[in-house]
Amino acid sequence: MGPGQGHAEGNGCGLNPEKPRKKATQIITGGRKKTFTGPVVNVPVWRASTHLYDDVAALEAGKSGNEDGRFFYGRRGSPTQWSLADALTQMEPGAAGTMLYPSGVAAISCALLTILRPGDVLLMTDNAYDPSRAFADGFLKKMGVQTRYFNPLTADIAGLFCEKTKAILLETPGSLTFEVQDVPAICAEAKKRGVITLLDNTWATPFFYTALDKGVDMTIIAATKYIVGHSDVMIGSVTTHERLWSRLRQTAQQLGQIVSPDDAYLASRGLRTLAVRMKAHEKSAVKIAHWLRDRPEVEIVLHPALPECPGHEIWKRDFSGSSGLFSFVLNGTKEKAAAFVDALELFGIGYSWGGFESLALPVHPEQCRTEVPWDKDRALIRLQIGLEDSDDLIADLDSAFKTLT
Ligand SMILES: *Cc1c(COP(=O)(O)O)cnc(C)c1O
Repeated sequence: MGPGQGHAEGNGCGLNPEKPRKKATQIITGGRKKTFTGPVVNVPVWRASTHLYDDVAALEAGKSGNEDGRFFYGRRGSPTQWSLADALTQMEPGAAGTMLYPSGVAAISCALLTILRPGDVLLMTDNAYDPSRAFADGFLKKMGVQTRYFNPLTADIAGLFCEKTKAILLETPGSLTFEVQDVPAICAEAKKRGVITLLDNTWATPFFYTALDKGVDMTIIAATKYIVGHSDVMIGSVTTHERLWSRLRQTAQQLGQIVSPDDAYLASRGLRTLAVRMKAHEKSAVKIAHWLRDRPEVEIVLHPALPECPGHEIWKRDFSGSSGLFSFVLNGTKEKAAAFVDALELFGIGYSWGGFESLALPVHPEQCRTEVPWDKDRALIRLQIGLEDSDDLIADLDSAFKTLT
């Protein structure tokens, strides 16, 4: 069998692709084609720039066609990357394919560049991840694309459309403040006007929130977070349906986007335990969010599973769970918040999240909001609840609160 004929044998793992499977099962079986893995369970690391052809005729024949599973040249990937992309595609009903990128930010930038042309207007939720804003306000602006920010809880997205509106970037729940957006309603309006919708789905991952079936056109994950799950790899992905797939792929290829096989391997390895990790993050984070809510030192806990979180009803309607990241407002000054974070022992101070370890960070939404201002004196702390014992984490938070008085 020649290169690239792997699809003909189905998954090659004795699985009937027609049988419906639950998500936890899909996570285990996704991307496990025999042509990718050989007889071993985990896809090996295929390090390769050059792929050799049998003869010149095969070389020439290789130029027609461009899909995963077809050996060509290292920049188009090898079985290690194809397997991961395939597994992510299988998690999104309605998806045609997934492109991988060397970071979540690269995934966001390349998804937007696939759609936007000079003169277009991009609508972006005001609580988008700050580097998404930086890309819009920097690179896209220079390219002649104008970005308009909007209230994440707007009930009138159509009222924001103008002739030149080309795309909307959503994020639910939003970075730092966790408002949950009515994605199906926004996508329905966008569809009527031919506006493309993109969603940053890093928080929930497709395990807790499938996006394309909500009407989203392109779903983006910073796989650096929960997919990798071990805080040791940077990687991003964009998954889309048939209509945009070849454009997404061409843009990524023209921009030379490629993920190393080692990183793809680690992401695949992380992915296999996503279901158990997500459920553990969820259980512990919900418990801690409830505990924090009853503390006199806490003004409000912003966790989508709590009724006081803006958009909670939508979270209940659309999500099948919540992950381990949320924030709370401390009653007190920002200095107090810094002292609180410094006093924690089990929570590291650092960027990123989605790994096995807990993290705490004072965050400042006032620095990156233009539509829904945040009071600069309100002390917001973001917590990533890791996989430590939740009683130990609560004891650590309790001790840190006691140092504040
Ligand atoms: C971290 C993050 C990203 C970017 O991912 P990187 O891999 O760090 O580039 C994008 N969106 C959200 C919501 C994130 O938290």
